[in-house]
Amino acid sequence: MSVLQALEIHHTFGNTEVLKGVSLQLNPGEVVALTGPSGSGKSTLLHLLAGLERPTLGKVMWGTAQVSTLKGTPLDRLRNQHIGLVFQQHYLLSDLTVLHNALVPSWIQAKHEQQEALELLARVGLSHRLQHYPSQLSGGERQRVALVRAVLNRPSVILADEPTGNLDQHNTQEVMHLLLELARERGSGVLLVTHDEPLASRADRILHLLDGVLVS
Ligand code: ADP
Ligand code: ADP
Repeated sequence: MSVLQALEIHHTFGNTEVLKGVSLQLNPGEVVALTGPSGSGKSTLLHLLAGLERPTLGKVMWGTAQVSTLKGTPLDRLRNQHIGLVFQQHYLLSDLTVLHNALVPSWIQAKHEQQEALELLARVGLSHRLQHYPSQLSGGERQRVALVRAVLNRPSVILADEPTGNLDQHNTQEVMHLLLELARERGSGVLLVTHDEPLASRADRILHLLDGVLVS
């Protein structure tokens, strides 16, 4: 069964239909790259798949849950269980430390989650930064914290929107390597929006979004 599904999604801003009947599915553990020119609707699609916005028409499913039937706290909880998000901007909270930022999605802050966050932060080379604040980190370090936060709950899906868009070549390689390695280990499917052809070619499958229509 697929971990993520879009069924005939249409989305309109004002008079402009940005998505024109998009359907896709992501299988457990699968890595899919989503490419397409600027303005083709990639970020909009990712927001809808993350349940951050509702499609004008059509359905989004996380496993067997139909996302558009939920809102508020139940939707946020379900998102935390199913979906890990990584954006181009790290969206770390500036007044929380690295460790506390990593723990943000775990609403039950059990001991084992602390332990797991510590292990993951060590994996991404940030053991010496646990008590630092985001403003004290480099771009690559911030994105590695965002990555730990995204995978901590073992989500069935990781949605990543140009996660390395602000990073140099070296940090891009490192963050992508960690993203794919952690996703594989934890069995998460990945939908990766990227302009980067070499990155896209490492995916199991590539989808192109052209003017609101998906072509594979
Ligand atoms: P991409 O990620 O492929 O660059 P986007 O999903 O960001 O594309 O944008 C697709 C189109 O939708 C663009 O024409 C953009 O200007 C428009 N758009 C995106 N978000 C909004 C919004 N909140 N309000 C109005 N138009 C929007
Ligand atoms: P990167 O190669 O990841 O972009 P930088 O060259 O930006 O790294 O930073 C190198 C080191 O300096 C990093 O370990 C980072 O934590 C530290 N650093 C960067 N900016 C600051 C800052 N404003 N305050 C404290 N340390 C910083």
